[in-house]
Amino acid sequence: MDGPAGAGKSTIARETAQQLDYSYVDTGAMYRAVGLLAEEQGVSLDDGDRLSVLVAGLDFSFPWVDGVLHTVVNGRDVSALIRDADAGMRASTVSKVPQVRAGLTERQRALASQGGVVMEGRDIGTVVYPAAELKIFLTASARVRGERRWKQLRSQGDDATSLAEVIEEIERRDHQDSTRAIAPLKPAADSVVLDTSKMDIPRVKRAILRLALARQEGVGPEPLGNTD
Ligand code: C5P
Repeated sequence: MDGPAGAGKSTIARETAQQLDYSYVDTGAMYRAVGLLAEEQGVSLDDGDRLSVLVAGLDFSFPWVDGVLHTVVNGRDVSALIRDADAGMRASTVSKVPQVRAGLTERQRALASQGGVVMEGRDIGTVVYPAAELKIFLTASARVRGERRWKQLRSQGDDATSLAEVIEEIERRDHQDSTRAIAPLKPAADSVVLDTSKMDIPRVKRAILRLALARQEGVGPEPLGNTD
């Protein structure tokens, strides 16, 4: 499942995985963790050689704690440190570096090849696992995605960030993710594109679950094609 920031991927991918009894892999958390550790260790976010060493030394695990998926790197739980807007931009910046993409893509492929996985990111259908049985590209207008993020921030007690700031951050990250040279954000040719601007989460989930169950039954051996 690929798509831009704030399209609802995390909630939908996680809940779809639970319903299918699949595992769930959030590849964005890996890029976010690399950005965090680089910052902490004083490694420049575009220093390919040092980032390559850093990525090679990372051991990831994703345990569930009280129904919440945590990101643990080298035994340290970094979940609370990788979710703010700065962490998103840092992740987007390190994700342009070829050595970082190569290192993380290899680990993601190993996880995907075990099967029974819902994996979300930006390049899962195009680069990480083009053989995936079902590829979903989830999107929505920048305004709708910004409003969703902003409401979420407010519900978490953040009254300081304006809607305009959230939309601006989303547009900047979209631009950086879609224009980078390697593995840019784009739908795979054989993905199903779902624009969630006017759909609520339960409806999107139902649509994806139907597609997944049909694929499990072997329905739709031909690419389903884009729905837009
Ligand atoms: O999905 P999330 O917003 O957590 O991802 C953070 C950033 O990590 C994205 O903006 C993108 O730059 C990068 N990313 C990526 N490829 C992936 C997943 C995330 O480049 N498969």
